[in-house]
Amino acid sequence: MSETAEFTCIRCGKCCSSLLSEDRGILRGLTLLPEEAHLFPEDVVRPAIGVGRRPHDSKFMVLAHQLAVEPCSHLEETGCAVYGDRPSSCRQFPFSLEPSGGGGPLLGVDLNCLSAARLLDAYTQISFKGRDAAERLLRIKEQVAQNPRQAWFYDLKTGRWVRGDRLG
Ligand code: SF4
Ligand code: SF4
Repeated sequence: MSETAEFTCIRCGKCCSSLLSEDRGILRGLTLLPEEAHLFPEDVVRPAIGVGRRPHDSKFMVLAHQLAVEPCSHLEETGCAVYGDRPSSCRQFPFSLEPSGGGGPLLGVDLNCLSAARLLDAYTQISFKGRDAAERLLRIKEQVAQNPRQAWFYDLKTGRWVRGDRLG
């Protein structure tokens, strides 16, 4: 019989310091849902994911934004200054839900979080409190996966949009 463990964040702050990463040839930051962008100063927020024929078309829609800096401006010595209002990406971390192309979503785990890595070593089933947040982000990933030729990703390195089917 398998044992289920609940993930506990030990508030080490590592995930709030390393927010920028190279992903399929572009530089990306912490993903923010549109209603979460206001949590950060405007000058450190950029678009992240959009859908449409071209980024400058009038019908182009930005589905998500991103934080363009690290460490997070809300990280204080005592931890997150906006913990109760933190974005969905932070609520789900170190887990994520990924489209599977049929059936239920796949569970992703970021092994940079030592607390999660320890759990994976010991348990075969893990529950996490940020599942609602992960489902909100999953809906965007599913929308993008349905039509990669109309999905665009903003590269923080070049300041340009790259179409989904042209990512490395
Ligand atoms: S989620 Fe993991 S890496 Fe982030 S603060 Fe918690 S224990 Fe640290
Ligand atoms: S909003 Fe809070 S939890 Fe999220 S990265 Fe910033 S400091 Fe960390």
